[in-house]
Amino acid sequence: MTESDLLARHRAVLPSWLALYYEEPIEIVSGRGRHVTDADGRTYLDFFAGILTNAIGYDIAEISDAVRRQVDTGILHTSTLYLIRHQVELAERIGELSGLKNPKVFFTNSGTEANETALMLATQYRRSNQVLALRNSYHGRAFGTLGVTGNRGWSASSLSPLKVSYVHGGYRYRSPFRHLSDADYIAACVDDLREVIETTTSGDVACLIAEPIQGVGGFATPPDGLFGAFAEVLDEYGILLISDEVQTGWGRTGEHFWGIQAHGVTPAAMTFAKGLGNGLAIGGVVAEAELMDCLTANSISTFGGNPVSTGGAAAALEYLLDHDLQGNAAKLGTRLLAGLRAHAERCPLIGDVRGKGLMIGVELVEPGTTRPAPAAATRVMELAKQHGLLVGKGGLHGNVLRLAPPMTLTDEEAAQGLQILTDTISQTEQELHA
Ligand code: PMP
Repeated sequence: MTESDLLARHRAVLPSWLALYYEEPIEIVSGRGRHVTDADGRTYLDFFAGILTNAIGYDIAEISDAVRRQVDTGILHTSTLYLIRHQVELAERIGELSGLKNPKVFFTNSGTEANETALMLATQYRRSNQVLALRNSYHGRAFGTLGVTGNRGWSASSLSPLKVSYVHGGYRYRSPFRHLSDADYIAACVDDLREVIETTTSGDVACLIAEPIQGVGGFATPPDGLFGAFAEVLDEYGILLISDEVQTGWGRTGEHFWGIQAHGVTPAAMTFAKGLGNGLAIGGVVAEAELMDCLTANSISTFGGNPVSTGGAAAALEYLLDHDLQGNAAKLGTRLLAGLRAHAERCPLIGDVRGKGLMIGVELVEPGTTRPAPAAATRVMELAKQHGLLVGKGGLHGNVLRLAPPMTLTDEEAAQGLQILTDTISQTEQELHA
C-alpha cells in the first residue's frame, strides 16, 4: 500500500480535525538514533521528536530491553489495586529529582491527564474553581485543560468547568511589554497579575498553571525570574503554582533539570509526560504530599502507571541521567541558538530566535515588520523535509519553527540540521520575496 492510499483511508475514517503535517504526510515505519525512515524508504534527521515522542532517541537498547523484559513476563498491566514495583520505584526516583518537600507522585497516560489531575488537586485543595493561566498557553485537550489553554487554534470547546483568567508573561515577542528591559517586563507582568486577580476573581483562586517555556505557543521563553516574581503575589493570596513541565522537564532546557528552576521558585506541583517515556504513553504529577493527598476518592484512569510504561520510563530516566543528556542539551543548544542568531542577522524573514537547550523557536515574519509569516514556516518545513530534515511548527499564528531534537543528538547531526535549516530559510526568503 502506498502512503497516499493510507492518507485517503486516514481521511475517510479519522476525524477531520486530526491535522497532519506536510502536503504529502509521511508514515514513519522505523527509527534509529536521531533518524526515522518512512514507508517509501526515505530517511530523515528528526529535529522534532524530542519533546513529542522520542525525547532521548530511537531504538535505545536499554529502554527497549526494559519494555521487552516486562512484556516477556506476560503482564502488560495488572490493576492499580495491586502493587506495581516499577511504579513505586519510578515514583521514588522522580520524587528525589523533583526538589519538592515531601513529594508524592501520581502517574497518568498523558500530559492532558497529568494537568487534569493537577487542576483537580489544586481546585479541591483550595475549594475554588477559579484558576489563572498564561495567555498563549497550552495544557491539553480535555475539558479542564482546554479551559486553561489560551490559544484559539487548540480550544475546541469553551465549556470548561473552570473559571479561568489569563495573565501576561509567557509570550514576550507580541506582548504590549515587548520593548521593556527584562526587569521592567517582569514588573509589568507582576502588575498585570495582581490586577487580574483583583479585577476578575474573588481572590480565592486555586492556582496559576504555567509552562516555563510555552511549547505549542511557539517556544515562547519568558525572562528568568518571572515566576519567582509571580510567586510573591501568588503567596499573598495563597494561590498554588503548578509548573507544566511536559516539554521543559528532564533537562531539555540544558541549564536546569526542570524548566521552572530558571525562575528561583519551587512550585506546589509539577506535571510531566512525553519526554519521560521516550515514546511510551506516560505522564504524571509530582506534588507535595498534603496537596496530593487532598482527594478522597480514586481518580483519573486505569492504565496510568502500568508496569510497561513505568518500567520503560525508569530505564529512560536512568539513561538520560547516566549519559548527562542535560549537559548535551546545554552544549548543542547553545551552538544551535548561536548559529540561528547569526543567520537571523542576515535574514529578515527571521523575527526572533529564542529558547533554551534543545528547545528552540524561530519566529518567521514579513521582512521588515513583525507581521507573522505562516506560509513561510510551512514552506520551510516542506523544503527541510525534501532535504531530509523534520522540524515542527507552532505559535498562535503557525509561524514559528520549532526545533526539539532527541537529547542524544551528536555534534555532526546538530551541524547538519543547522545547515539544512538555514539553507531552507534562505531559499524560502528568496522564493517569497524575490
Ligand atoms: N502540556 C504541554 C506543555 C504540552 O505541550 C502538551 C502536549 N503538547 C500537553 C500538556 C498535553 O500532553 P498530551 O498530548 O500527552 O496529552
